[in-house]
Amino acid sequence: MISTAISYQICITGLVQGVGFRPFIYKLATKYHLSGTVDNRNEGVIIHISGEEDILNEFVEAIPMEAPPAANIQLLKIEYVEYESFSGFSIKKSDNNIISNEITEISPDIAVCADCLQDIKSQPHRQNYSFTNCTNCGPRFTIINGLPYDRPNTSMADFELCDSCFSEYSDVNDRRFHAQPVACNHCGPHFSLYYKKGVISQFSSIVSEIASEIDNESNVVIKGMGGFNIICDAYSANAVSELRKIKHRRAKPLAVMFKDIDALRLYCSPSNQELQLLESWRRPIVIMAANNFPNSLVSSGFSTLGVLLPYMPFHYQLFDAIGTNALIFTSANLSGAPIITDNAMALETYSGILPVLTYNREIVNRVDDSLCKISNEQSRLIRRSRSYAPSPIRLAFSVDGILAVGAELENCFCIGKASQAILSQYIGDLKNADTFDFYESCIQQYSRLYKYTPKRVVCDFHPNYLSSQYAENTTLPILKVQHHHAHMASVMAENNLQEIVLGVILDGTGYGVDGTIWGGEFFVGNYNSYERFAHFAYRPIPGGDAVIKQPWRTALSYLYYIYAEDIWNLDIPFVQNLNREKASLIIQMINKNINAPLTSSAGRLFDAVSALLGLCLESDFHAEAPMRLEDSMQQTQLDLSFPFDFENGEINFDLTFKALVNGIMEGESIPRLATMFHNTIVEASAYVCVLMRQNFDINKVVLSGGSFQNAYLSSQLENKLDRLNFEVYCHHNVPTNDGGIALGQIAIAANSTFDDKGVKDFAG
Ligand code: ZN
Ligand code: ZN
Ligand code: FE
Repeated sequence: MISTAISYQICITGLVQGVGFRPFIYKLATKYHLSGTVDNRNEGVIIHISGEEDILNEFVEAIPMEAPPAANIQLLKIEYVEYESFSGFSIKKSDNNIISNEITEISPDIAVCADCLQDIKSQPHRQNYSFTNCTNCGPRFTIINGLPYDRPNTSMADFELCDSCFSEYSDVNDRRFHAQPVACNHCGPHFSLYYKKGVISQFSSIVSEIASEIDNESNVVIKGMGGFNIICDAYSANAVSELRKIKHRRAKPLAVMFKDIDALRLYCSPSNQELQLLESWRRPIVIMAANNFPNSLVSSGFSTLGVLLPYMPFHYQLFDAIGTNALIFTSANLSGAPIITDNAMALETYSGILPVLTYNREIVNRVDDSLCKISNEQSRLIRRSRSYAPSPIRLAFSVDGILAVGAELENCFCIGKASQAILSQYIGDLKNADTFDFYESCIQQYSRLYKYTPKRVVCDFHPNYLSSQYAENTTLPILKVQHHHAHMASVMAENNLQEIVLGVILDGTGYGVDGTIWGGEFFVGNYNSYERFAHFAYRPIPGGDAVIKQPWRTALSYLYYIYAEDIWNLDIPFVQNLNREKASLIIQMINKNINAPLTSSAGRLFDAVSALLGLCLESDFHAEAPMRLEDSMQQTQLDLSFPFDFENGEINFDLTFKALVNGIMEGESIPRLATMFHNTIVEASAYVCVLMRQNFDINKVVLSGGSFQNAYLSSQLENKLDRLNFEVYCHHNVPTNDGGIALGQIAIAANSTFDDKGVKDFAG
């Protein structure tokens, strides 16, 4: 037998560290009676293995099939090497000296696994222990301070393993072999509850105290995985209105954590894809259709609900103790500021107001809950944070040494290591001072973690973005990229496209190279350059950014453009309900061109129609007006659309507005008008794509920009373009909103020379 034995060297790259990969290989090799070693290296996991060829091949085939759930194998490379004889199979001790700049991936955080939930019930030293974890689950990125990923480089460093934990940690056959955050009741972190009567640290008292608060319709602050959360009974109107007051959050929908899938099914009917996402180890918030949820304060009139399932042991323990099967689950932060991670800060902010549950392990890296939805049966990430970041996006070219600073709202930044674009977790709106501090410290943290020194920086073309100013201050060679070109490059990068493509970028706000505000853009181009083939017709937005909070101003502007003073004769509620005095001021701003910049923004167009239909005149949260417009169409199936014009590269919706106004006067239903408006945008976009194909003989279309968060718009346009035989590419794991901008920036920077600052516009 020995005479037929051969040896392989197998190199596996991807997310293969911190996810129980080496013990998995050990067990698999042992199962096949193969001998050899497995080893962590810079470039990934290296296996040296000897045995009969057909058994070796069975082993190799089993690797991707049986890999741990959170592992993500990017490449598995096999080489024949000279035969080597091993005694048994062993895991080599990782040699820290080998870890150089070329570090491997940092695992995102992983929801607690079923085995650990069982251990909490059955293992004596983990009886009710809320910080139970193993190689398949638990905190990762949120506790990592440095690399390699070993306990001393995590916020578990202060907790010395007890004998039981150490023997599990050292036993290759144990599920906790080399599980860095391994802990138990004797040696790990513990909770403290600060409430009006003082502090309690006994777990059973903590749970019963919090349960009685929740059952009595109060809110409680609890320390979670990537930050503090506020929770309360989702069915309680008292508790939810109290929470809205505390958070200064009037209307933005709140997420609901259900006890289990059965509780969720009382109000939602998740599709297979939605179910998969909800139950995945990433446990994001999934936005989906909901029916009859009894507390209308939660969803603020939307037909959808953001829902998630428990992901930390404590969530399960709490549901076992409380009467409700649904909790509001939201971040604990002051309006606009980042989610609180620090015990002292949480106590300072909430003690005296709400009970605060802390634990004595530091959250090193702040992450929010991730947010996604399914449209056209595919997952679309809206906020990429917990359990997604900091997984890299692998590109076909090097982005090494480039720092992409992102946009301003929904900021994420991106660092380049070799051909990996490492997109940060969700940072937020940089205009908030605390969020900007988080942004700066997070860039430094990534530099430290990834042993990264930026050599070039790329930013948005917008001179006033705080991220652009940050980029200027680095004094590194700088490239400024037009916002919608970055959107286009982002979706290209995510889909590994390098050739010249057509781009439909429907977005809120982006600084245009002609000094106007762009956002309804049709480009032809690649990473190097683009031509602006067409755009939505410019209309003034009186008050500039102020219109974002006051969509009625934009509606007035659109109508005034068409009807001028005849606007006052329009017999529609929007006009009748206008405050004449305020409206006259706005009209004066337009006529005298006082702070009334021009925009081709798709977001503003949706705002205007939402206000015109009376759905959202004043906006309480980002993108409320387009969201209400989309939501108003629920279950309306209609393929009719309104007319529009196309001339000299401008898509003009004046006819659309006239038809909308007539429809309102004739008493047509809002859902019908909203649907026909959406269909008009789909038709107009497809029309321009066909023109671009005729002009450039290019068949690939990429879709990006914040407006594509609208599931109806994105799915209808994708399907329409599909029927027209276009190859359509859109975002899945990178947000289509400004959270994806940094990826586009880094891809453009990698393909540009930094000498020619500014934007190329080869159409002139
Ligand atoms: Zn586990
Ligand atoms: Zn222990
Ligand atoms: Fe944008």
